[in-house]
Order: sequence, then C-alpha cells, then structure tokens
Amino acid sequence: MKKFSRSILVILLCFLGVTESAENHVAFGNITELESGNLKIVFTLEQVALINSYALDDPSRIVIDIKNVTLKGSVDASKVSPIKLIRASEINDNVRVVIDLKGSVFWKKPWQVKHKDRVDLILEIKRDKTITKNLRDIIVAIDAGHGGKDPGAVGKNLLEKDVTLLIAKELERTLRDTDGYRPVMIRSGDKFVALDDRYQNARKLGADLFVSIHADAFRLSSVKGSSVYVWSEEASSITAENLSKSELTKNPDIRSKIGKLDVRDFDEDAARTIFQIANEAKINNSIVLAEKIIEQMKRDPFTSMHKPGVEFADFRVLKSIDIPSVLIESGFISNPDDAKRLEGKAGRRMIARSIFLGIHDYFKEKPKPNTFMADGPKNIEYEIQKGDVISEIAIRFGVTINEIIQWNNLNNKSIYPGQKIKIFI
Ligand SMILES: [Zn+2]
Repeated sequence: MKKFSRSILVILLCFLGVTESAENHVAFGNITELESGNLKIVFTLEQVALINSYALDDPSRIVIDIKNVTLKGSVDASKVSPIKLIRASEINDNVRVVIDLKGSVFWKKPWQVKHKDRVDLILEIKRDKTITKNLRDIIVAIDAGHGGKDPGAVGKNLLEKDVTLLIAKELERTLRDTDGYRPVMIRSGDKFVALDDRYQNARKLGADLFVSIHADAFRLSSVKGSSVYVWSEEASSITAENLSKSELTKNPDIRSKIGKLDVRDFDEDAARTIFQIANEAKINNSIVLAEKIIEQMKRDPFTSMHKPGVEFADFRVLKSIDIPSVLIESGFISNPDDAKRLEGKAGRRMIARSIFLGIHDYFKEKPKPNTFMADGPKNIEYEIQKGDVISEIAIRFGVTINEIIQWNNLNNKSIYPGQKIKIFI
C-alpha cells in the first residue's frame, strides 16, 4: 500500500514539476557592448528558471547553472574581449554555461527579464584590471509591504504602506552607497504588487537575500514592539498564525492570486519538492539572517521587541525556495509609542539600520564567494552623498562620530560628495 502511494506521488511530482519545466529551453541570444563599457550577454528561455551562478579564478570564468532546462541550438558567440569562449553543455536536467575570460571582471549576478514571448537571461561583465579576482555586488531585494490599493494596517495618523516604503527607502539608501551591496526595490512607489510577483521579482532580479518590511496593528493598543519572521508551512506561534490570516484578509487580491501564477514564472511550490536541499539551506540561512537582525534590534535603545526570538509564519511572500527571506514587523502602528517612533525619520532610520547591520553580519558569517564582502577588506566603504553629515552617517551604521573622524583622519576636514570613507562594523 505504501509503495503504491509513493508511486502516485512520483507521478504527481513528474506532473507538477518535471514535465512542466522540461518545456523550458535555453538558447544563446546575443552579445552587445553597452555605453557603460559593460558587455551584455543574453540567453533566452521560455520560463523563468532556477539559476545558480558563480565565478572562478585561474583560469578566470563565470559559470551559470540553469536548472531543469535543455539546450536549444548552439552557442555561436563571436569572441569579444574579455570573453575567450562561451560554452554550454547539458548535465542531467540542467544546462551549464561557462564563460571563459581573459582576466578578472566585475560581473553582475545574472537576472531574468520577462517579455511577452520569452524570458531573457542577462549577464553583464566588465573587465577591470585593478582587481585580481572576479567580483560582484551582493543583491538585496527590499520589499516594502503593501502599497497602492492595499494600505495594510491602518493607524490613527499613518498607513502601513507608507511606513514600510519609507523604511525600505532608508535601507535602500544605505545599501546603495555602501560598496559591495546593490539594493533592488520590489516596489519603489505607492504601487500595488501582488504577493506572488514580489518573490518572483526577487528571483528575476537575482537577489541574494529578500527582506520584506511591514508594520502591524492589533485591537489592543498596548501591544507593541518588533518581530522578525521566517517562512514555515506550519506557523509556530498563534500570533504568527493570526498575522498570516490577517495579511490575507487585509488583502483580498492575495487569495485570488494564489495558484494563478503566470506560466512563464518559476513555480516555487512545485520546485520545493524537487530542490529540497536548496530549500533546507534557504530555511536555515533565513533563520541566521533573522537572528542577526534581531540581535541588532536589541541593541537599538528605541526599538522594543514584541517577540525576542525568530518567529515562524506561513507568509507567502517568503516562499522562495532558495533565496533567504525574512519578514520584519517593525512595530505596531496601533500602539502610541510604536506609532510615534515609526512616524519619525529617526525611528524608521533605526529599523533600517538594524536590518542593514543584520544583513552585514549575516554575510560576515556566511560570505558569498567572489563578492566584495567576502574578498575585500574587513571594513566597509561608504560613498558620501550630497547633503550627508557625519552625525547622520554615524547613526546609519551604529558607530560614533569620533570613530568616523579617527578612521578617516577627518579632524578639521570637511566631507564632500563622492568621497569614500571607511567604517569598521
Ligand atoms: Zn503588513
């Protein structure tokens, strides 16, 4: 009996995953030189695929493993410097593309762009003679909760969708101006984005991490504080379960969206059974990331914790099978203290700072090979922007003004836009 049901399961899995994704093909597209001097290499797919990419040195090359696809046509790439050769081969159900290079390059993690009739898989590289290893930025997807017709929680003077976007923009700014990181915004304005599209977009953008920012409301105004969630099919706490449900009822479009993925999207639910190891690693890494953010939140004197440990909830937005994902409830806008904190720039900046430092601590513990964070010096470099003042930078990174002055010999010197300063965190 057991054996019988297992074979049904296998058939079901084939039906759900393998047959569907077997239709996906990868073909070589073209190479173009951009105005920026970057070389853009395009492959085409029929559906968004699960991709693992990494760079190797000696000899220098970039490898892109595309899961559950077959190769269509041959790779007929004219050799444009610094490309020596592009080769592709089928390994089991996957295609491995190798780009052999003449020297070290700065590369952008491949991303996928959906068109009406195809999906483009894009890699950008740039020869950089000053680096001795292939390097890339870490991509952090920032998801400001709710937006547009979905206001999220409604407080006396503020809406969740506005608070989440302002915190997201704070975090974006810090990541953008810090060497080695590149933020990508899931929404950058007051726009409605369906939950499925949020994690799908993170995948398409090639995100290394996904952080979803929220602020909650509760019928008891005394309930306050921040919490950090990771995904679990079985929510571990009753609060989390209620939250999952309230996120659903708050946003009726979520219900109608479930199970209605675009056929060219990557089906995370079907993939979960096929790529179990990747999914387990993702869950463990999400927990580490959540712990790091919580540690930083606890250091912030202005933020109290609603839950002291990592919480688990079935938040659909966190469902990516391989991108470590956390959801941050930055506070309860139904609580007067939290509302006051989140209404002010300072309070929001502290949340953004905890998230940034948590992300940075995560990559210190789990460095990604061939990124600036893994191979660079142990300090970070921040590029001064117009309007920046040292006191504000100090708050952003959780250091003192004096430390910034000492590390950068800034005594009696003023800072200027474009200047890079060192910060040891
Ligand atoms: Zn929310």
